[in-house]
Amino acid sequence: MQRHLRLGLIGDNIGASRAPVLHRLAGAQHGIDVTYDRLVPRDMGKPFDALFDHVAQAGYRGINVTYPYKEKAALRVQINDPLVQAMGAVNTVLFGKDSSLGFNTDYSGFLSAYRAARGDRPPGVVLLIGAGGVGRSLAFALAGLGAVDLRIADLDTARAAALADALRRSFPALTLTLGRDAGALAQGAEGVLNATPVGMVGHDGTPLPPDAMPARGWAFDAVYTPVNTAFLTDAAAAGLTTISGYELFIGQGVDAWRLFAELPLDEPRLRADLAAGVVA
Ligand code: NAD
Repeated sequence: MQRHLRLGLIGDNIGASRAPVLHRLAGAQHGIDVTYDRLVPRDMGKPFDALFDHVAQAGYRGINVTYPYKEKAALRVQINDPLVQAMGAVNTVLFGKDSSLGFNTDYSGFLSAYRAARGDRPPGVVLLIGAGGVGRSLAFALAGLGAVDLRIADLDTARAAALADALRRSFPALTLTLGRDAGALAQGAEGVLNATPVGMVGHDGTPLPPDAMPARGWAFDAVYTPVNTAFLTDAAAAGLTTISGYELFIGQGVDAWRLFAELPLDEPRLRADLAAGVVA
């Protein structure tokens, strides 16, 4: 069995990312020594494409890609899943001899988190706040889960419109409503999702006024630092089922690990090790 796996993450502002710990702990379950490098284009003096070319030739099994490079990565790889192709955003790349394969485990990780909390129930009428990188993955996942009425709120209306155009091509029957005012779009929604940075440490607040929170249904917050955001606290107070962004962090990491290593993972043990601060 392979004893060493070289992985990495291309992104900006990734100094605090816990992805290296997650992948090292996953490797330790199999006695594999994982190196997971933080690859910041500016720090390495290379623009994204040059850095991508470099790592593709440097013995990496694969990489994760995060803000703001997921769309750029999608242009550099072969994507076999038609929905990921339509999404146009890739967060996991496997390097092969002749070509590189692209995946989106934010998308698959959200599906797992949603199903763990809601089972087979469809998402219902949904409000997605934030149409950026993670919002795009969530929107395709929601449509894939059977959402028929999706409202998208973003302060940047061009971003919401671009996402709606991409969704319409894959899901022509989906009803889409766009706007800047999340509170207004929340009326009658059963699911509400935060895919903005609002609520992160240093970015206090919530993108949805507490009194606009639906009276029943479910809520997901992509933000997970802190795990208990104001958005999720308001949702729980309103009686909604809540799904934390930590579940997405775990889900995307587990799915990426399975692609990188093609090995199973003891997920409860991984969660316990992460929570206990075990250093691999
Ligand atoms: P992004 O910058 O690409 O997109 C954020 C979008 O939100 C932008 O389009 C912006 O215009 C919009 N926005 C900002 N404030 C708003 C507001 N008050 N109301 C409406 N729209 C608003 O960022 P991203 O990469 O999509 O990430 C968003 C957040 O998701 C990150 O800050 C991070 O905390 C979280 N995230 C979590 C995970 C995870 O594993 N849980 C993964 C990726 C991102």
